[in-house]
Amino acid sequence: MTRRSIVIVGGGISGLAAAWELTGGATGPGANPPRIEVIEAHAQLGGALGTMEFAGRTVDCGADGFLARRPEMVTLVKELGWGDKLEAIGASGASLFLKGRFVPLPQGLILGVPTSAQSIRRLAGLSWRAKAAAYRDQWFPRRFTIGDDVSIGAITRAKLGEEMTYKFIEPMIGGIQAGRVDHLSATSVFPALIAAARRGGSLMKAIAPSSGSMPGPPTFVPTEGPVFFTITGGVGSLIDELRRQLEERGVVIRTDVPVTAIRKTPTGDYPFEVDTPVSTTPASGVIITTPPRVTAGLTRGWKDDLHVLEQVDSAGAVMVTFSIPRGSATLPASGTGVLVPLHTPWTGPDSLMTTALTFLDRKWPSLARNDDHLVRVHLGRSDDTRCSHLGDDELVTRVRAELAFICGSWPPTGEVRVVRWPDALPQYRVGHDELVTKVRSSLPEGIALAGLAYDGVGVPASVGSGRRAAAALMETWTSS
Ligand SMILES: Cc1cc2nc3c(=O)[nH]c(=O)nc-3n(C[C@H](O)[C@H](O)[C@H](O)COP(=O)(O)OP(=O)(O)OC[C@H]3O[C@@H](n4cnc5c(N)ncnc54)[C@H](O)[C@@H]3O)c2cc1C
Repeated sequence: MTRRSIVIVGGGISGLAAAWELTGGATGPGANPPRIEVIEAHAQLGGALGTMEFAGRTVDCGADGFLARRPEMVTLVKELGWGDKLEAIGASGASLFLKGRFVPLPQGLILGVPTSAQSIRRLAGLSWRAKAAAYRDQWFPRRFTIGDDVSIGAITRAKLGEEMTYKFIEPMIGGIQAGRVDHLSATSVFPALIAAARRGGSLMKAIAPSSGSMPGPPTFVPTEGPVFFTITGGVGSLIDELRRQLEERGVVIRTDVPVTAIRKTPTGDYPFEVDTPVSTTPASGVIITTPPRVTAGLTRGWKDDLHVLEQVDSAGAVMVTFSIPRGSATLPASGTGVLVPLHTPWTGPDSLMTTALTFLDRKWPSLARNDDHLVRVHLGRSDDTRCSHLGDDELVTRVRAELAFICGSWPPTGEVRVVRWPDALPQYRVGHDELVTKVRSSLPEGIALAGLAYDGVGVPASVGSGRRAAAALMETWTSS
């Protein structure tokens, strides 16, 4: 029998997790393992995961932590033998920058949605109208009828009003997705919200944990213990270890070479061919983890059903990381960071570009030093690309000015690094779920799609997506 050949297009965490699964996961390769080749366009593997040397330590330049209460990433880390490097988040809570001051977020929010009017009663910076809207939802809820899918903003505006939506809920959800609540699909991004809204009555009561409608996908496992983990040495440091162990298992990993086309072969032992500028690999199966618009282009000519993926646009993000001497700026006394509502006015031109600050050394104890703070500034949204039009020097000057406004002062010197992530975050717009289901059901046997465009944004979701795609592919062969 001809040896099976599987090509994985894209060497981000979903592609590498797929390769791990195909090589037997925790137990390792069995008899007659397939040939596996991972092809990555960039010189570095890892996609949105990577590390950099900064202010005397190794710091993530992309994702810096992951949900501990979803099992996929924690399981992978343990399978790779790195369980002792899991580091629990060292702080909790966050603040909102409202009306020129830091307002600690109250307990009991579910992705920004309060679970009772009382929980926001004393919140500074929120008008009495917004608080009244919450009381109205609790006691005299507005009716809202929902079809198949609807935006998150449509639900929260109708039930809780505009101010709660844009000042509270949008900074939280928009920050994770780099998108706008008025565009993001409730079904795909916040299933608990749409479930709560469908129940009718008070949205806040229906979404409260005691109502049984928990946020997140079905794999969400409520447990005791930390909410987030990182890996000591950086989440991105896992990529080198994963590569090492995959290569030990015989996986061929190629970097700095883009896949240019995936073709169907009319005859022969292998139904597909995967092209790069310098090679063609025959394949029994292909797992595609590239951004959706790239994926649509790769199959042009024979798989026109995938062209709808061109509708899935992606937002870019920019992260500017500072090391500043302790005491040189006024930060909130506690918490992992600050969320900044969109269109917040300031003393400079137009509105603030900053969408959030995170305090890396508070989040991750192994990064803490006695003499500095590591502050990461997040910029960029699906409809705010201003930061991508500025060069690094101009951007740093602008961000320093914004930070001086937000924190009262900001030192003009100190180490700083700009990292850009163009088109890195696919936008799950209304109808996304249906589009993904349709596209997947049109795939020929042997082709699978995985990654953050389909099964949720976040490291655990991407790991799970890659592993499920690999397992499903193997399953079709064992059952046929
Ligand atoms: C700035 C940022 C911060 C984030 N922070 C967090 C966080 O703190 N916690 C969290 O859980 N999640 C976070 N996420 C989300 C998380 O990082 C992603 O869900 C996950 O890393 C995506 O992995 P992936 O493999 O699905 O996609 P990607 O990482 O995008 O990998 C896709 C790969 O395909 C490659 N590729 C593209 N075109 C081609 C081609 N033609 N041929 C071959 N290869 C190609 C790309 O170079 C890339 O390596 C963050 C994302 C970003 C962008």
